[in-house]
Amino acid sequence: NADLAMYKAKQSGRNQAHFFTATMQEHANQRMTLEQDLRHALSRDQLEVHYQPIIAGHSRRVQGVEALLRWRHPERGLIPPDQFIPLAEETGLIGEIGRWVLQTACAQLAEWRNQGHALYLSVNISERQRELSLDARQVEQVLQQHELTPGDLMLEITEGLLLQDSEETLRWLQGFKTLGVSLAIDDFGTGYSSLSYLKRFPVDTLKIDREFINDLDSDRYAQSLVKAIISMAASLDLRLVAEGVETEQQCQMLLDQQCELMQGFLFCRPLPAEALSDWLEQESETPALPPVSD
Ligand code: C2E
Ligand code: MG
Ligand code: MG
Ligand code: MG
Repeated sequence: NADLAMYKAKQSGRNQAHFFTATMQEHANQRMTLEQDLRHALSRDQLEVHYQPIIAGHSRRVQGVEALLRWRHPERGLIPPDQFIPLAEETGLIGEIGRWVLQTACAQLAEWRNQGHALYLSVNISERQRELSLDARQVEQVLQQHELTPGDLMLEITEGLLLQDSEETLRWLQGFKTLGVSLAIDDFGTGYSSLSYLKRFPVDTLKIDREFINDLDSDRYAQSLVKAIISMAASLDLRLVAEGVETEQQCQMLLDQQCELMQGFLFCRPLPAEALSDWLEQESETPALPPVSD
């Protein structure tokens, strides 16, 4: 019996090894195909920028929009950024793609401005773009090209990048700051919490990760964390945006804690430019909610 058990274990071990190699091979193939497709995505017009409003909670008025990239793949349909941005970063394609996102989103903002919508624009950037020639001068040129000012733009970087804490990163970010664009830390709270970088890096905004907002309804620990982040931001004079607000209850809790700026499905999902144009038109015809008196 022991022999039989041993035999079975060996068999299944062998099968497993076989299974893993096959899967790994398949993954490698898929990756290569995806990489080849991604190389042509821009020239084949398959990339799209969608936009999600950022709202002032009390008035429910839109303040800004975040540009969120999507890939409309001919066979695979709409691919979300998490599934191809890492690949774009590894291959360096993020340089070209990132420039295109900035151009496209700035052109779109200019159009909305001309239609009378007062909005700011938030664009996600990757650390890799530092070596791929995204710098303050280039951002300045794009802004000028569309008759926008640096104050119209916010750049979002994820917390992870700041952990590298290099002189190069610091100088890179300082360049944007000197130009006058806003800098936000994205997904705040999910990285390793070395808070000292908040003083060292020239950031002015924190975006609380949606993981914490999601747990606000049910989890007291999340409530305390969000409270702590909000009071820390206030004492460091940082602007706050809560991401992933999905329920009225979450919105109310954030307002009670004086967190005014919010983004989430409760207000609007990320939409293609034309659909967001309609949304903005409607929004501008709706009266703002009166300030609450309590
Ligand atoms: P992010 O910058 O933190 O963007 C917010 C994400 O949360 C978006 O996912 C958005 O669709 C989602 N979201 C917003 N409100 C809600 C909500 O109420 N509930 C839930 N469940 N989700 C919500 P998305 O569009 O899939 O983007 C994922 C990430 O991809 C972004 O996270 C950002 O890190 C990255 N990304 C997107 N566009 C770009 C880009 O142009 N360049 C770079 N480097 N990264 C990008
Ligand atoms: Mg973001
Ligand atoms: Mg985020
Ligand atoms: Mg993110």
